[in-house]
Amino acid sequence: MTDKKQNLETNTVFCLNCQEITAIVADEGYRCADCGEQLCVECGCTESESCAGGCDWAEPGLCTECENERRK
Ligand SMILES: [Zn+2]
Ligand SMILES: [Zn+2]
Ligand SMILES: [Zn+2]
Repeated sequence: MTDKKQNLETNTVFCLNCQEITAIVADEGYRCADCGEQLCVECGCTESESCAGGCDWAEPGLCTECENERRK
């Protein structure tokens, strides 16, 4: 049986630091359940593994690279 109430869209992300799909921990901002680093829920970049060219936090769980994409 599958629970239709469960939201599968934002529960996991490919963490660039762990190089695998991990669970997202949402408490104070968004963190990887494996490495514990803050990550972007859109692209999976973390504090130590940022996007190519570098990025910063636009808001918790969203890096500046992904924010730029949204603004187009
Ligand atoms: Zn990780
Ligand atoms: Zn991002
Ligand atoms: Zn990024």
